[in-house]
Amino acid sequence: MKALVIEAPRRAAVREIPLPPLCGDMVRIQVRYAGLCATDLAIYTGECSFVRNGLIRYPVRPGHEYAGVVAEVGPEVTKFRPGDRVFSDCAVTCGKCPACREGRFEDCPEVRSLGTVNTWDGCFAEFQDMPERHVHPLPDGVSLEEGALIEPAAVAYDAFRGVSAPVGTVAVIGAGPIGMSAAWIAKNFGAGRVVMIGRNAGKLAVAEKIGADVTVDLTAEDPVAAVKKFTGGRGADLVVEATGAETALKLAIELVRVDGRVSLAGFFDHPLREFAIDEPILKGIALCGAKGHFGHAVKVGEMMAKVPGKLAQIITHRVKFADCLEFFEHEEKYHKAKIKVLLEF
Ligand SMILES: [Zn+2]
Ligand SMILES: [Zn+2]
Repeated sequence: MKALVIEAPRRAAVREIPLPPLCGDMVRIQVRYAGLCATDLAIYTGECSFVRNGLIRYPVRPGHEYAGVVAEVGPEVTKFRPGDRVFSDCAVTCGKCPACREGRFEDCPEVRSLGTVNTWDGCFAEFQDMPERHVHPLPDGVSLEEGALIEPAAVAYDAFRGVSAPVGTVAVIGAGPIGMSAAWIAKNFGAGRVVMIGRNAGKLAVAEKIGADVTVDLTAEDPVAAVKKFTGGRGADLVVEATGAETALKLAIELVRVDGRVSLAGFFDHPLREFAIDEPILKGIALCGAKGHFGHAVKVGEMMAKVPGKLAQIITHRVKFADCLEFFEHEEKYHKAKIKVLLEF
């Protein structure tokens, strides 16, 4: 099969790779759509904290967002058969430790992430092999394209972990895929008002289609004044920071109400330079990291099945897998207009 391999920073190729025999509980999934993530691009350029700290080592077969069709199953697989439409978790556990045996995958000490940290070969390939315990049926009515959006939306879903519905005003900073997914989840979660803050009119218009009640263009409006106006001066109950920019983190802390919560859903990739930590202390803010979490993907799939097609509006580009190298090399050409880019197989 063909697979993309990044051999070193800015050195990648689509290679012919032999398919291993399928044994045990492995499911072989023919990848149909795979999403490109900022992390994939960062691995390609080498400008990635995981590369710097040694958690990702080249060569890497990237890709962790996808949906496809079961092509073949190992002899121990009981829940899937060829032709089933599926998606999967974005990480693989050892399957043997006490935590795995009890289904507490988050506590497994040997987690390997698809195409990223402690790499399990990723999905920028014609086939993806996964143990059955990490494969899930794609709900009826959810397209394979939209299924490829489940993984990034599951990261955004973690921004709401432990938040009890109904939540009042949710402000999202950043109209990229994670921010968009957060706005979509907030709306489906019953938020009173969803405010999307960005700096690109085209992306903000998409945010309105997927669930934002109000959009604020940073280049023309003061987001603090806008959020104060909508909340009677109180501030947002929950702010999702989805850009990884220090200025956005400062803004999030300004926007959130006293005793509110700020969820951090974007990697900063560098240490903070100037950050007044007393401010969140004085406001009593909960600062929560948001990351992928076993179990979220299935919840997001269920949410998607209730409003099929809605989140798919964030797909701005479709690139043939054969042309993916061109995309990696010239990403800056697409950067401004792109929200989510899918590879088509
Ligand atoms: Zn990602
Ligand atoms: Zn384990």
